[in-house]
Amino acid sequence: MPSPPKLRRIVAALKKVYGKLAPFPSRDPWELILRENASYLVDDETREEIFRSLKAGVGVSPEAILGAPYERLVETIGKSGMRPRMRADKVLEAAEIAREIGLDRLRKLARTGGAEARRVLKRFPGIGEPGADKLLLLAGSAVTLAPDSNGLRVLVRLGYAKDDPNYAKTYRAAAAAVAPELPDDTAWLVAAHQLLRRHGQETCRRSEPRCDVCPLAKGCDFARAATGERGR
Ligand code: SF4
Repeated sequence: MPSPPKLRRIVAALKKVYGKLAPFPSRDPWELILRENASYLVDDETREEIFRSLKAGVGVSPEAILGAPYERLVETIGKSGMRPRMRADKVLEAAEIAREIGLDRLRKLARTGGAEARRVLKRFPGIGEPGADKLLLLAGSAVTLAPDSNGLRVLVRLGYAKDDPNYAKTYRAAAAAVAPELPDDTAWLVAAHQLLRRHGQETCRRSEPRCDVCPLAKGCDFARAATGERGR
């Protein structure tokens, strides 16, 4: 595998294209866990709409969620998005776990990071290794890019990891490959996460990536291979 372009250069190039992106709507682990479970296959705007509806209609404390009538919960999160009952069940399961752990302890763990924090976060529905990484990144306790599927696709195409049918394997390989290049700088890491995600959504799309307008094309394995194929 050729050596990948340097991450700092990549992120700087993406920043020139996309500028400074809007901050995350929250960095609170519990609020982020709720967003994850109350939504299903929706864009960021709809995810926020659902969260706002939940907050206004039921409340977002574990006690409020567990004390609300089931149909009201379904109705408040069902105003947007598919499969509201499935989402309501996940929200209830998350609230049960949060009540058992306690929000103060959950927040403290996220700020502290480490193996125990990961183990606790992964107890929640919808939170696997990438989800736990993202929560810890946003809480400022992990040095990681925590790429989502869009960001991971960009890293793979740039040569940081091979695309394995097993998503977790690809994620781990990319995480290990970028690790030596990561600064202990939460603001930079969060910006890098967001920029890679945006690039994967808008330019380095799953099908028909727009390599012709991509600022990373020069150092990109995928684009090189595609050009080579066309040149044959
Ligand atoms: S050159 Fe193409 S494949 Fe490579 S990062 Fe850019 S859009 Fe993605």
